[in-house]
Amino acid sequence: MIQSQRGILRRWYYCVVQSQARLKLEELAGEIVVCRRCPRLVSWREQVARERRAAFAQESYWGRPLPGFGDPAARVLLLGLAPAAHGANRTGRVFTGDRSGDFLFAALWRTGFANQPVSRAADDGLRLRDTWITAAVRCAPPANRPTPLERDTCLPWSVRELGLLTAVRVVVCLGAFAWAAALRLLAELERPGSGPPRGVPRFAHGREHELGSRVLLGSYHPSQQNTFTRRLTEPMMDAVLERARILADGDAAAR
Ligand code: SF4
Repeated sequence: MIQSQRGILRRWYYCVVQSQARLKLEELAGEIVVCRRCPRLVSWREQVARERRAAFAQESYWGRPLPGFGDPAARVLLLGLAPAAHGANRTGRVFTGDRSGDFLFAALWRTGFANQPVSRAADDGLRLRDTWITAAVRCAPPANRPTPLERDTCLPWSVRELGLLTAVRVVVCLGAFAWAAALRLLAELERPGSGPPRGVPRFAHGREHELGSRVLLGSYHPSQQNTFTRRLTEPMMDAVLERARILADGDAAAR
């Protein structure tokens, strides 16, 4: 009886904390979407939104920065590179509306992190469980290549976002750029102003590295370049996500 009362109290506490986090994440998203700190990226995201690709000529592009998306109680954070010009920069939701997102969300669905395998538009009913997706740089960059300065300029948004995602224990880094950004992000959260930690392993697919209370887990980015060449296959992507859950479960068991 006492145990069931404790269970109810725990669930009530969890709901309150989660709804507070959701509100704060929404407030943060409101700040992110009007950011104009990087002149080159502001110019590019807006140019793409004006000119549009022929296939999407009838659509209204988002053309602004992308906040993260997912479950405020997530234990697993997925960190990508930056929005695709005609994907997230069009639809207004991270990894939504392009081939990389098709590959990633299908894997999230197969591994139980998403309620559906497709992600086509911001209002398509997609829900994530126990995971949050965001990008190291929140505006679409020319040729998909943000500069290190743009990465560092955007970092404070990710620091604030992860600061609100208090349950995150595993950061899945989608590619070497995300790995480098995550090192800076976690260092900034743990010891503000300390810069990236020294002596950490370089990015590799499947590599794990503990940093404070969290674990970095490397994965090849689900870009078309990687998936078409089968450098990253569906079983490889699934294995990374399953490993992320095991790492998050292990942390829960230890507490
Ligand atoms: Fe702002 Fe980040 Fe976009 Fe730069 S990349 S303009 S910091 S949201």
